Amino acid sequence: MGMKKYLLLLLSVPLYFLWAEGRKEPEMAPKQEMTAKVQELDPEDLPKSEAEWKKILTPDQYYILRRKGTERPFTGKLLKEKRSGVYTCAGCGTPLFSSEHKFDSGTGWPSFYQPINPEAVKEIRDFSHGMVRTEVVTAKCGGHLGHVFADGPRPTGLRYCINSLALNFVPDESENEKN
Ligand SMILES: [Zn+2]
Repeated sequence: MGMKKYLLLLLSVPLYFLWAEGRKEPEMAPKQEMTAKVQELDPEDLPKSEAEWKKILTPDQYYILRRKGTERPFTGKLLKEKRSGVYTCAGCGTPLFSSEHKFDSGTGWPSFYQPINPEAVKEIRDFSHGMVRTEVVTAKCGGHLGHVFADGPRPTGLRYCINSLALNFVPDESENEKN
């Protein structure tokens, strides 16, 4: 290899990394403002400790998702949400529920008669507070969402009673144009 070619090669390696770094920036940007709305996280990007969860969630979101808390009824920001769109996990961004399956249960919490995809949620027997209930968590991050009861409307007869604070709402593109 001639000296000139060798020098060119030496120069082009750091240049390539500079170029690659520059290209990464637009993807990295949303991660810095993850407090309220979270992009869908890959499993390897999920927080690995409660301290890390505390960094990306608001204290209220943390209380619901990680401490299995329940928001006071009729206080949730998504209770009255009527636009069409998708409800995602406030912890990891997984799409969980659709506006198509939302109904007014009168209980004071956002209610759905089914998840978008049964694999997206996990159901766990919950014996807390002297009751036998079925807890609903996001399959990917284990975040507590709420409970599912067998007194919902047709076609499933189920009522997924979900905390607003555990969800983010992503309106359909067409809804954005309308508003
Ligand atoms: Zn999640």
